[in-house]
Amino acid sequence: MMMIPITKPSEALTCREFVELVTDYLEGALTPLLQDQFEFHLSICEGCQIYVEQMRQTLKFLGQLNEAAIPTEGKEKLLATFRAWKQTLPNKAP
Ligand SMILES: [Zn+2]
Repeated sequence: MMMIPITKPSEALTCREFVELVTDYLEGALTPLLQDQFEFHLSICEGCQIYVEQMRQTLKFLGQLNEAAIPTEGKEKLLATFRAWKQTLPNKAP
């Protein structure tokens, strides 16, 4: 019985597989083997170079958003406004 190899040579990483790994790569979560395959593909594929750059910018942007997320004070105000608004709702039975 023939065994089908699960691991592929590094040059076999497709763009589709690459794209699925980008987030992990940017988070430094890839195994050394996968990272090698990833960086190899990155070095030969211009389309994926652009994609990674876009992802990097997006993650940076999202990171800034998270850090600058609604400050506690603003959140309290928002919640207070929401509570006040809820109280003004007519509370009659159907
Ligand atoms: Zn590619």
